[in-house]
Parts: sequence; C-alpha cells; structure tokens
Amino acid sequence: MATIELDHAVCIVSGMCASVAPSLFRVADDSSEIIVLQANVPDDLLDEAMNAEVCCPVEAIQVVTG
Ligand code: SF4
Repeated sequence: MATIELDHAVCIVSGMCASVAPSLFRVADDSSEIIVLQANVPDDLLDEAMNAEVCCPVEAIQVVTG
C-alpha cells in the first residue's frame, strides 16, 4: 500500500491536489491548509495520488510506495 506524506511547511494551499485527487485531499473550509483525507492510499486511488504528486507546484507531496 502507498502512503501520502505532505509537507505542510512547504504547501502553499494552491488546491491543485484537491482538484486532481478529491478523494485524497481537501482544502480546509477556511482555506488555511490542505487536509489529507486518506494517508493510506487504496490501490484504486494510486493513480490519483501520483497525479497529485506530479501536479503539486512546490513538491510538497510524496507518495511512498512499497
Ligand atoms: S498541490 Fe501542493 S501546494 Fe497545492 S495544496 Fe496540494 S500540497 Fe499544497
């Protein structure tokens, strides 16, 4: 199973990850931070997680596999 690691110190809350992977990320209601909905990524959402990792403009997301 893959795991999402998000560096909140680096994240600029662009919301990109929530757009490409809404099952995994959500922007907090006050837009102050991003919330990881599922840190342990189900296999069927692995592609979404990888897309979010690639799309993040500041490389704050790491999808750790294995
Ligand atoms: S795409 Fe990156 S910078 Fe944007 S909200 Fe997600 S983790 Fe933060």
